[in-house]
Amino acid sequence: MPHNLPRLLGIGLLLGLILFAPGHNRTEAASVAFDPERALAHIAALAGKIGIRQVGTPNEGRAAVYLATQFVALGLDTRIQPLPVYHLYSQNVIAVKPGQDAEAGTIYIGAHYDSVQWGPGANDNASGTAVLLEAARLLANETFSPTLTFIAFGGEEMGLGGSSYFAGYLPPLEQYVARGMINLDCVGWGTVQAIGFVNESADRLVQKAVDNAAALNIPVTLKKVVNSDHASFSQVKIPAILLYSYAPDEQVCGPYYHQSTDTPETVDVAQMERVAQILLATVRDLADDLPERTLKYLWLPMQRGGQ
Ligand SMILES: [Zn+2]
Repeated sequence: MPHNLPRLLGIGLLLGLILFAPGHNRTEAASVAFDPERALAHIAALAGKIGIRQVGTPNEGRAAVYLATQFVALGLDTRIQPLPVYHLYSQNVIAVKPGQDAEAGTIYIGAHYDSVQWGPGANDNASGTAVLLEAARLLANETFSPTLTFIAFGGEEMGLGGSSYFAGYLPPLEQYVARGMINLDCVGWGTVQAIGFVNESADRLVQKAVDNAAALNIPVTLKKVVNSDHASFSQVKIPAILLYSYAPDEQVCGPYYHQSTDTPETVDVAQMERVAQILLATVRDLADDLPERTLKYLWLPMQRGGQ
């Protein structure tokens, strides 16, 4: 059947490309788990090479370009969202992995990448940003019903600038279909994993994180925390939690908090790995467990309008 020959050749060529394409290598074991070396390389790039990333400065912009480049390399639909923070300008870096089911909504995973003017912000918060990038790398190749949106926030150190802009300007429908938000801040120092929340609207998400941490044999404590980016999502009624690390008898972000000594050498990557494990398990759990929403009722008037 000669008329099928081009088609067969085409299929053969496609199979060959899929099987032998560079990067399509299932034996690369390191790619399926949190990679401490990759995480530390991100911290070295942000808090070492770039350094202080104060809101509105060229260095904050350089960090945004670094992050956007990383997300693009993972094949994610990436954009930089410019935004005002008081009299300054900052930017969020947003990377989207579309879900299989348009009605399943979106799970947001975020971390701020800016620092204060006094220090290079390795723990606060290149550590959370590095876990965000690792989570994006690991989740990018999995299949989920909901959309996953990864956001590196600018301007956190000035009134949660990036996250309040992002959450505040989410269209009402997107706020409504949001499944939850998990924020990472100061995840590279201390001995204890903690889950922060603003109010009871996050109860279900808190419980998921607690259950998944227990399944991983990672003890966690719960605390009310309002001064990080998850609070901007709670503000618009999206269930939101913070994952962070601390040590008893120390302030929340450790002894180097907002100082010139918050350098890459002080970061404990084992702490980051535990936080990453809780994050990944909770995202997968949340994506698999979507309670019925009333979207049908919300969409019904639009459908009628179109008839
Ligand atoms: Zn922070």
